[in-house]
Amino acid sequence: MTIIEAHGIRKRYGDLEVLHDVDLTVEEGEIIGLIGPSGSGKSTFLRVLDLIEPANEGSLSIFGIDTVAERGHWLNLRRRMGMLFQRPIVFNASVYDNVAMGLRYRGAPGDEIDRKVKGALEAVGLSRYVKSRATDLSGGEQQRVALSRVLVTEPEILFLDEPTANLDPGSTATIERIVAGLNRETGTTVLISTHDLSQGQRLAHRIAVMVDGTIAQTGASGEVFRSPRDRMIARFVGAQNIIPGRVVSRMAGFTVVEVGGREFLSATLPPADDVEMVIRGEDISLHRREPEHEEAENRFPAKVVRVEPAAPFVNVTIHCGCDLVSLVTARRADALALSPGMDIWISLQAKAVHLIPQKNGE
Ligand code: ADP
Ligand code: MG
Repeated sequence: MTIIEAHGIRKRYGDLEVLHDVDLTVEEGEIIGLIGPSGSGKSTFLRVLDLIEPANEGSLSIFGIDTVAERGHWLNLRRRMGMLFQRPIVFNASVYDNVAMGLRYRGAPGDEIDRKVKGALEAVGLSRYVKSRATDLSGGEQQRVALSRVLVTEPEILFLDEPTANLDPGSTATIERIVAGLNRETGTTVLISTHDLSQGQRLAHRIAVMVDGTIAQTGASGEVFRSPRDRMIARFVGAQNIIPGRVVSRMAGFTVVEVGGREFLSATLPPADDVEMVIRGEDISLHRREPEHEEAENRFPAKVVRVEPAAPFVNVTIHCGCDLVSLVTARRADALALSPGMDIWISLQAKAVHLIPQKNGE
């Protein structure tokens, strides 16, 4: 069942247009990762979806209710959703009181509050801190208190706005485990914004990439990673190589792209005559000799230009018609004894050469 349906959302603050033409459909039980650079509009979009503030234009249905036509339903709808913010917000009171707050506000009976608060604290692994002062806890624990305050109201849709941006890796992993478990066990729909791609990949069933106030691409995380739709997304998902070239022919199911006098084979259908090849550094393999039994369609002699450690990897810039960056492990770099000026071979599968149309003025 479709639980959120947003079309053509626009949001302005004064003259500043923060969201435009935002479309997103979310099915019940999904975990959606809303990823995008800082300032792209993720938080604003989550506030619009959580009915904290209205959009200026567009349609938005939540739980099948048209929120634009039915403003009178907002309070009711809001009570079926919950939002966790980037900075843990806890009050100078016991952990118990922090979590009980929302239920008291809703006028729940005392024994129900007690049962639910204890359940929510157990869900985030904080049962032993029930009497502690919330402000005395670590940042990661405070965020778990804030999360259990949201969970205690049993939201059907949970919005998480960069919930781990201020946390250490251990606390981040704990929050991710709780969210994944909650989704699995209760089928709660989750929208999590993050500028951390790997978090999106770990948690989300589907990724929506927000760039400059609009959702530029949605898809399975691997798809967004491997086949970004344009240069902005390619950059954001960390493709080291975005190289302009020209499509010269099709051959045996491959697209032949000419770059600096070399012909690269790509498994992508040509999107235009002038293209950009998007190649991830880890897809370019380096060899001392010409690779013979490689499965890779692209094999070229090249020259090492630069070797830069980027632990635990090494960025190796090589020249072969154009400059390319290959990402190898430190161990592999040692084994190859790489140094600038050295002759080397590279190999690259045609399916690792993703093509996007060239755009001017970006
Ligand atoms: P993100 O969460 O992706 O970092 P935001 O949604 O916070 O992006 O912000 C997007 C843009 O909207 C930014 O340029 C930000 O300065 C602006 N913005 C956000 N909230 C407001 C507001 N209440 N008033 C004015 N500008 C805002
Ligand atoms: Mg934000």
